[in-house]
Amino acid sequence: MRGSSASTPLVALAVGLLGWAVPAAEHIIVVRDGSSFSVPVEQVRGFPAARADSLAGALGYTCVGHSILMDGESVRFTPGSPFFTDGDNIYQLPNPVYVSGPRLMIPLSWALEWLAEARPRRWSYMDGRLVQRPPVTVQPPERESWLVVIDPGHGGRDPGTIGVGGAREKDVTLAIAKQLANRLRRERGVEVMLTRDRDTLIALGDRPRIPQLRGRDAAPDLFLSIHANAMPRKPHSARGFESYFLAIARTDEALQVALRENASLEYEDSNVNADRDPLLFMLSDLQSTANLRESRLLATAVNRSMATNLSVPDLGVKQGPFQVLVGATMPAVLVEVGYLSNRSEERQLRSSSYQAKIADALADAVVDYLADYGRRVWSSYSSGG
Ligand SMILES: [Zn+2]
Repeated sequence: MRGSSASTPLVALAVGLLGWAVPAAEHIIVVRDGSSFSVPVEQVRGFPAARADSLAGALGYTCVGHSILMDGESVRFTPGSPFFTDGDNIYQLPNPVYVSGPRLMIPLSWALEWLAEARPRRWSYMDGRLVQRPPVTVQPPERESWLVVIDPGHGGRDPGTIGVGGAREKDVTLAIAKQLANRLRRERGVEVMLTRDRDTLIALGDRPRIPQLRGRDAAPDLFLSIHANAMPRKPHSARGFESYFLAIARTDEALQVALRENASLEYEDSNVNADRDPLLFMLSDLQSTANLRESRLLATAVNRSMATNLSVPDLGVKQGPFQVLVGATMPAVLVEVGYLSNRSEERQLRSSSYQAKIADALADAVVDYLADYGRRVWSSYSSGG
């Protein structure tokens, strides 16, 4: 530790002066699982580079051939090329990867710039070190674990919107929801229920009540419904994500999105006509003021995390009369993860690596929101409120 801390001020200064320029250090320090790992850096090609196997080992990953396996995903390099792939995505480094003897050498910018941006949940670059972010531990004062309901939109005979290239919304939402559930289940203290884990139709009104319908006493702490957007005319250039909480729509666009999502009612066997009128159900007082405020905070957390993790337009936190949110007595949000009416966004939304990125972003948002919520509840307890 002593040797590494001595070089830190110089490294930090270099970063401060040069922005994202990679510091000319002899080692890069990785802090992981409470230990500090030092990886030698060489400058023989005029830019700093490190052995792929040493770097992977320090990061807790595995180096196989010209690839680094990261949490089940493979990052592939090509000797002589600055390009590399992460799942279906291609990235470019400022300098090429090269081979030195039997060793694959990777420009340090891969670890210091790309990794911290591509896996912000796992790594951050601070004070000249690559530091593993600790898992956020949520400890609500009043119970041992949180119960989160994740709702993949549509299903069964309701396909949702159909993309310009034929992707079905119900398939995209289910794939993202399953990955999100897997990620959340790895977090301590978060229990997840999916409203559906296969291609089946669940009534909108039943979705927030799924735990009770399946015999659980505990009311869920949070409800997140996952959807994909579409413009009436396809193809269309509109792209990006947006999050909704339940309230009267403020714009015609928001109302149109809500009406399109509420059209799922057409596929249900029985529904009450009054439910179809967005203004009528807004008059019910299922949504308390406190719940409205929490739902808005949850929507804000979702958009913030999506904006951090994805490089697509943030279309904002919005409100609308969504039928699926009406029965929710807990913080509840509907997220439109992107547009299936946009050719390139549809292609992204179909790829499992992009679905994983969305799932990561949503998992971050849920955990961050619950941690904040726990603190708010805790402070109201301790202040006697
Ligand atoms: Zn939908």
